[in-house]
Amino acid sequence: MASVAFHTLGCKVNHYETEAIWQLFQQNGYEKKDFESIADVYVINTCTVTNTGDKKSRQIIRRAVRKNPDAVICVTGCYAQTSPAEIMDIPGVDIVVGTQDRTRMLEYIDQFNRDRSPINAVGNIMKARVYEELDVPAFTDRTRASLKIQEGCNNFCTFCIIPWARGLMRSRDPKDVIKQAHQLVGAGYKEIVLTGIHTGGYGEDMKDYSLAKLLVELEEVPGLKRIRISSIEASQITDEVIEVVNNSNKIVRHLHIPLQSGSDTVLKRMRRKYTMEFFAERLDRLKEALPGLAVTSDVIVGFPGETEEEFQETFDFIASHKFSELHVFPYSKRTGTPAARMEDQVDEDVKNERVHKLIELSTQLAKEYASQFEGEVLEVIPEDRDDQEAGYYIGYTDNYLKVKFFSNEDMIGKLVRVKIAKAGYPVNVGEFVRVMEDEMHEIAVNS
Ligand code: SF4
Repeated sequence: MASVAFHTLGCKVNHYETEAIWQLFQQNGYEKKDFESIADVYVINTCTVTNTGDKKSRQIIRRAVRKNPDAVICVTGCYAQTSPAEIMDIPGVDIVVGTQDRTRMLEYIDQFNRDRSPINAVGNIMKARVYEELDVPAFTDRTRASLKIQEGCNNFCTFCIIPWARGLMRSRDPKDVIKQAHQLVGAGYKEIVLTGIHTGGYGEDMKDYSLAKLLVELEEVPGLKRIRISSIEASQITDEVIEVVNNSNKIVRHLHIPLQSGSDTVLKRMRRKYTMEFFAERLDRLKEALPGLAVTSDVIVGFPGETEEEFQETFDFIASHKFSELHVFPYSKRTGTPAARMEDQVDEDVKNERVHKLIELSTQLAKEYASQFEGEVLEVIPEDRDDQEAGYYIGYTDNYLKVKFFSNEDMIGKLVRVKIAKAGYPVNVGEFVRVMEDEMHEIAVNS
């Protein structure tokens, strides 16, 4: 039996797509091996979001070539899409496939085995207009399933290379989304995370359909307990979306809304499509409609030209709008983007200092957010054992509080009720209350 080994770099979408590629190999009789063992084919799914992503991708490719010089080395993903020639130049690389035509990978492998000549199968992604359907009926080792609903992005923010790696916005056919949701529930998943490159933009390229409509349809999928949207831009939080979230029993009380900066002048240089006034209005509207909502966000610190005042505006905005957690990134130059060529690049020391200030703020806000729920009973889906304390398991509430509590292996992937005994960050300590009725009979794990 032929064998294949995978290595995935980068984001959720890449991980999702590696699962899809694995399905193709599995259907063709391959067995999966660990990346560190000897396999017949190595697939490296690369990332290009930062220059470091490129470098790491190259290291992993070389590692696979060293492992088994006779193997077929197949490189795919974002870095493969943007820089195929650079990858073809790495000795030992046999096939390069970008972010489309993944379904043809096995064909290319056959072709390579026949002709023994390297294949560069990367096409012009900017011409792609249709979402490429890739099936993922189940995931390896996961309790939370991702469901990819769209591809590409039309925004071209000045710091971001992604539209060049993924092409323009393409939404997945709602029928395929719903079909996959049914499959995932059938495979035992309770929670689905809607994923994409610009997830909240779903439907913008479609007539008479929208993210709100898709959410309404997903609500009807029997057995599905939680729907999480991996990321949504402020401009995509329409009144209709707020209403749908408000009326839903399944969409979680958590939204991830990228802020990037809290200063209008920086946002303009980033070519982001909102002002702080607009962002604030959306947040207020959301919090009014959905009390207790957790709002997480991404922030880039030290964007070219960011002054102390502009940073302070970001800091103050975050502090006053009480985000429940931030992902803070120091700006790093991405070759090929307009921002990398901007003058007034910010000094690394200044960036670091600002990053620390925001991380501190994030920790404080996260603690404040979690403390509101101390004493409350919330629903948690345990995902893993706690590696610090025996008998404890870790999972997330719908509003994205990480909770550890005494439990047992049978609970993994089930929806259980847990009392937040001691709020904290990054982990809250909970006490098991009971399994939800339709999951199984009550089990007293503490007895
Ligand atoms: S919205 Fe901006 S940051 Fe996000 S993928 Fe598109 S271009 Fe990149």
